[in-house]
Amino acid sequence: MRINENTKKMEVVCNCCGRKLTASKGVVKEGVLSINADWGYFSKKDGEIHKIDICEECYDKWKLSFKIPIDIVSKNEML
Ligand SMILES: [Zn+2]
Repeated sequence: MRINENTKKMEVVCNCCGRKLTASKGVVKEGVLSINADWGYFSKKDGEIHKIDICEECYDKWKLSFKIPIDIVSKNEML
């Protein structure tokens, strides 16, 4: 979520492909992976928080590059 300098409106842009995601009234109306990476003391980025938004399409391509497949848990199994 960032402020568009031209329109001054809040918008969510995919960091990977640069596409502006569909949103209305501040709610994103499509799949998005929002990451707030709070790098800690033992990293080389101590004191920095990295904020990333990735659209579902880019996420699907990104995960294919992982060596270990991601764990997918049905929300029903967590109840
Ligand atoms: Zn994207």
